[in-house]
Amino acid sequence: GDNQQSNANEEKILVSIRLRPLNARELANNDVPDWECINSTTVLYKNSQPERSMLPTAYTFDKVFGSDCSTRQVYEEAAKRVALSVVSGINSSIFAYGQTSSGKTYTMCGITEYTIADIYDYIHKHTNREFVLKFSAMEIYNEAVRDLLRSDAAPLRLLDDPERGTVVEKITEVTLRDWSHLKELLSVCEAQRKIGETSLNEMSSRSHQILRLTVDSSACEFRRSENSSTLSAIVNFVDLAGSERASQTLSAGMRLKEGSHINRSLLTLGTVIRKLSKGRNGHIPYRDSKLTRILQNSLGGNARTAIICTMSPAHSHVEQSRNTLFFANCAN
Ligand code: ADP
Ligand code: MG
Repeated sequence: GDNQQSNANEEKILVSIRLRPLNARELANNDVPDWECINSTTVLYKNSQPERSMLPTAYTFDKVFGSDCSTRQVYEEAAKRVALSVVSGINSSIFAYGQTSSGKTYTMCGITEYTIADIYDYIHKHTNREFVLKFSAMEIYNEAVRDLLRSDAAPLRLLDDPERGTVVEKITEVTLRDWSHLKELLSVCEAQRKIGETSLNEMSSRSHQILRLTVDSSACEFRRSENSSTLSAIVNFVDLAGSERASQTLSAGMRLKEGSHINRSLLTLGTVIRKLSKGRNGHIPYRDSKLTRILQNSLGGNARTAIICTMSPAHSHVEQSRNTLFFANCAN
């Protein structure tokens, strides 16, 4: 019936594409845009050449955003509903996927801030419940998990808790005082990501960042008899390693240890998402990588997922853009 239909839609992974504008370097090289959003759900390849005529030219997703769209619009239409389910006790994950310099960090920073601002807004309007927000941040580099709120570099272990599933041992979890406290913590994370690295771009192209917000709530004292339920859920904001790291190793075979490890998390995520999007009941290989182990409770099952695939429209990036669309298609 209607009810079942709407449940099925809720469970589907929300997949969108965001094109960024051509950057200064692309413009200086007289690069041209290959891709155009022709409506709110279709992106079109517009430079069809004879040797490419076998490839599809139009791709349809839940949402597509052209280079003139704001991050606010991307948030409202491609992330908000999924992310805000956390206040109702439903886990969720928002991913940014795409090649290095396609706009993952730009998009995810905005989405994280808009979400948490909306959560505070929700809390102020729902005074019959008491809310506690907790924030943690980690980075997965070379299959090692690092706490982004602490300066010692010792990698964190993953433990299997019989009640909570996979937990990151000893990770710093900070109870948020208010919005400005969050902004402080976000700048600590950013500084931590830069430490020890000569090139931030090199680092961020190889590592996955997970910012995690836990929302606990319970009915206020005077309402307790009416509604005594307590709720707890997490929302993850995941800024993935550059997707070129997956395709490179696929074509070149085994590379450095580092390369293959990055692929492990990115490739396993791809497999997990492909299986989830097909609604298969069979084995989902969450345990094959650190990233998918950490996200297991927020990916599949009752959890909600949104994936924003970022792309450069430039002709010089056409191969990577096609890979990104291929991934997005599998998740759709
Ligand atoms: P990634 O994280 O995928 O490597 P970034 O988010 O760092 O890419 O983006 C690369 C550069 O492009 C940054 O300077 C960023 O500010 C800029 N940029 C990305 N997306 C947009 C956009 N939609 N509009 C304007 N500038 C963008
Ligand atoms: Mg980045």
